[in-house]
Amino acid sequence: MDFKDLLLIEPLQRAVKEEGYTAPTPIQEQTIPALLEGKDLLGCAQTGTGKTAAFVLPILQKLHLGRKITRNPRALILAPTRELAAQIGESIRVYGKYVRISSAVIFGGVSQNPQVFALHRGAEIVVATPGRLLDLMNQGHVHLQDIEFFVLDEADRMLDMGFIDDIKKIIQRLPKKRQSLFFSATLEAKVVAFARTLVHDPVHVTITPEKPTVEKIQQSVYFVQKEKKDALLVHLLSRPEMKRVIIFAQMKHIANKVAEMLNHSGIRADAIHGNKSQGARTVSLDRFRRGSVRVLVATDIAARGIDVEGISHVINYELPMEPETYVHRIGRTARAGAEGQAISFCSAHERHSLIAIERMIHQQIQVIKEHPFHSESAMHATGAAPSGQRFGRGRGRRGGGRRGGGRRDGGRGGDREGGRSGGGHEGRRR
Ligand code: AMP
Repeated sequence: MDFKDLLLIEPLQRAVKEEGYTAPTPIQEQTIPALLEGKDLLGCAQTGTGKTAAFVLPILQKLHLGRKITRNPRALILAPTRELAAQIGESIRVYGKYVRISSAVIFGGVSQNPQVFALHRGAEIVVATPGRLLDLMNQGHVHLQDIEFFVLDEADRMLDMGFIDDIKKIIQRLPKKRQSLFFSATLEAKVVAFARTLVHDPVHVTITPEKPTVEKIQQSVYFVQKEKKDALLVHLLSRPEMKRVIIFAQMKHIANKVAEMLNHSGIRADAIHGNKSQGARTVSLDRFRRGSVRVLVATDIAARGIDVEGISHVINYELPMEPETYVHRIGRTARAGAEGQAISFCSAHERHSLIAIERMIHQQIQVIKEHPFHSESAMHATGAAPSGQRFGRGRGRRGGGRRGGGRRDGGRGGDREGGRSGGGHEGRRR
């Protein structure tokens, strides 16, 4: 299928073509025609499926073709995090570059002045996180009576993050007559119950990309002693094919240490985690996107919602404790049809995490021994047979390492990111 077949207008087709999209993704095929017809939508899909374009393109088209004179926003998109809101805002700019639709992105943690300015200048589409939007509504800077399109993105995460009351307050201010789109990665009962209050006679679309995505990723594991991980990392990063790399660490201070170590070794790297200000994170992400820094060291929470194209490698400097988090991490590469590689470092005390991951993905990850830092003792830490039969029961952690004796939330809670709806939720979902 082609974008033309979806009845998208030429300026939008041109924009997606310039982005290098040759064909719509399944969610785009299924949602765009229905949304152009004016239907409500209940979508079960997550990031990586092309869902942003699936709702942004029809909204841009409808706003463009049905011009109206108002200074108030006509489309409202709510997202749970500032990173996601910023990314949706960026997609609107990219897909909308030939239709001249104004937009504003609103989120907390930064000065409200530029956002207020953008609203007063007139924004046809507003992308917002709920808290800051409510603030600005209460201050009289934004009026929702002209909203024709309302999108709730990552609704399950919004509920988990405790945004329900804010969202309800926002919905009360929307006109009854509108087109509503509800996206969630899961459709648990409470999510569906909430969706029912929002969408009317919706088209249902379910996309489950997880397996095919993981299958496209070339996965490997390097057994290495903990103290040799830095040397192995520098060794691997010297390869020219390591073009754009995200390195995952469990804890903020490890992410910092790894980034510092790389910079000392002459490899430019930025760390992003919850202790960094929004401004610092945005700068790091921009540098990473532009390619002036090719290595980003991230914690799981900070990496949420990051969508950078062309990530060639994901490196698990430390294996996550929840196998679902592994799947989510490696999904950063091989986006939308591209190929990607995921490399995991595994020391003796991480063997049980590896076993849990392999059980979940129903495959054994290829072991790479041909490197100067291979550790036989790490590889055999669980008493696995040398023939490569590596399933079996782990002996548990050794040495009472800094990850805290098997507690799910880590022994040094102050450093491991998580908190409120933290990694547990993310793990469950993906
Ligand atoms: P999303 O699920 O919206 O976060 O999109 C995931 C990634 O897929 C983004 O990097 C998009 O730029 C990319 N993408 C979206 N639609 C297409 C498409 N039709 N063809 C290729 N890439 C796409």
